[in-house]
Amino acid sequence: MNNYDYKADVCIVGAGPGGALLAYLLASNGISTILVERNDHINKEFRGEHLNEIGEEILRKYDLFEDLERKGLLRMERVEYWDHGEVIKTIWPDPEIGHVGIHVPQNHLLGLLLEKSRPLTDYTLLMNTKVIGLVEEDDHYSGVIAKQDGKEIMIKSSLIVGADGRFSTIRKLAQFPISKIHHGYDLLWARIPAPKNWEPTIRMALVDDDQLALFTQQGGFVQIGWNIPEGSYPMIRKQSFTPFINKLIAAFPELKDTVTENIRSWNDFILLQVQSSKSDTWVKDRVVIMGDAAHTMSPTGAFGLNSSLKDAEVLYQIIQDYKGSIQHLGSTELERFEKIRRKKVEEEQSTQLVKEASFGKQFALV
Ligand SMILES: Cc1cc2nc3c(=O)[nH]c(=O)nc-3n(C[C@H](O)[C@H](O)[C@H](O)COP(=O)(O)OP(=O)(O)OC[C@H]3O[C@@H](n4cnc5c(N)ncnc54)[C@H](O)[C@@H]3O)c2cc1C
Repeated sequence: MNNYDYKADVCIVGAGPGGALLAYLLASNGISTILVERNDHINKEFRGEHLNEIGEEILRKYDLFEDLERKGLLRMERVEYWDHGEVIKTIWPDPEIGHVGIHVPQNHLLGLLLEKSRPLTDYTLLMNTKVIGLVEEDDHYSGVIAKQDGKEIMIKSSLIVGADGRFSTIRKLAQFPISKIHHGYDLLWARIPAPKNWEPTIRMALVDDDQLALFTQQGGFVQIGWNIPEGSYPMIRKQSFTPFINKLIAAFPELKDTVTENIRSWNDFILLQVQSSKSDTWVKDRVVIMGDAAHTMSPTGAFGLNSSLKDAEVLYQIIQDYKGSIQHLGSTELERFEKIRRKKVEEEQSTQLVKEASFGKQFALV
């Protein structure tokens, strides 16, 4: 008989947007939930931070949006396509939606979800706790093993949710097969203060046939996302920095001063190796994977964050039907979650590939 340190109906591994929302929804509905996060903080930089109307609708439905707005968010007013320093095309929001995306700093979203969850009696949050193993019992998994302050702990639960991101430990431990999709590009990220009077826009340019994007951020920043050919960064870094950065300034002359002041070397960029992935099954022996763990998305179209929030909502609805008897929630019911979400996610992944392949045409059509 195993000696457990914690026990709950549901153990969620990973306090990203998906795991944190699911934990909040379950615990506020009286389902005992443990949320395990390997980091001791929630201040992660360069994550998917653009809510679309689907993410917004979920947060409004569960009365979270207004509190989030109080913490700080920024609605994007339009998308602009720029060529040689001039706007050549503008996409305005659908009047019913009223924006083309909302920038929400991830620490605002996670901070809110954790703050709202903490007082709930059915909620336990274990930060600084890294899951390293699964406990097997008869024909199913019955808990996780984690490291906390150098000590091993065991958590027993009727259901284990792997919401632990693109390199998911749960996915590996339970041997969910995945296939990776390469997109032919990697992404350089940088963040600079927004120039004075900078409007909340998303701006796109084509530089050497690659996408260069600017995302205005809440708090007075501009995030730069610059696509470069996949695997090319080591070679790019060997080249002189000045001609590279001058291309950015030529594309967006208004940024000259702030770029010159804030991006001085390759070290001011962060590399994201872009890939997406699909897992052939999301459910196995009382383990279910969701969000980036089940389907990593490329950054195109900002689907990753919203998709993870939607997974959390759908999974919550299926689990809550078994409140009081989670031990009877079997694979067939959990597979409903996969069935509802997989088709939609795969459509979004296809949309990403189409958008990426046709990006250059946005400029040719004008
Ligand atoms: C650098 C970067 C940039 C990105 N940029 C964009 C973008 O521009 N647009 C977009 O839409 N998406 C972007 N994404 C993806 C987006 O952030 C994700 O789609 C979204 O965060 C998925 O949410 P999630 O909750 O499924 O997983 P995550 O947000 O990845 O959260 C997973 C959590 O699990 C924790 N964890 C992992 N392993 C363990 C373990 N063994 N034990 C305990 N905890 C664990 C992690 O610390 C993390 O907090 C980016 C991702 C990265 C990494």
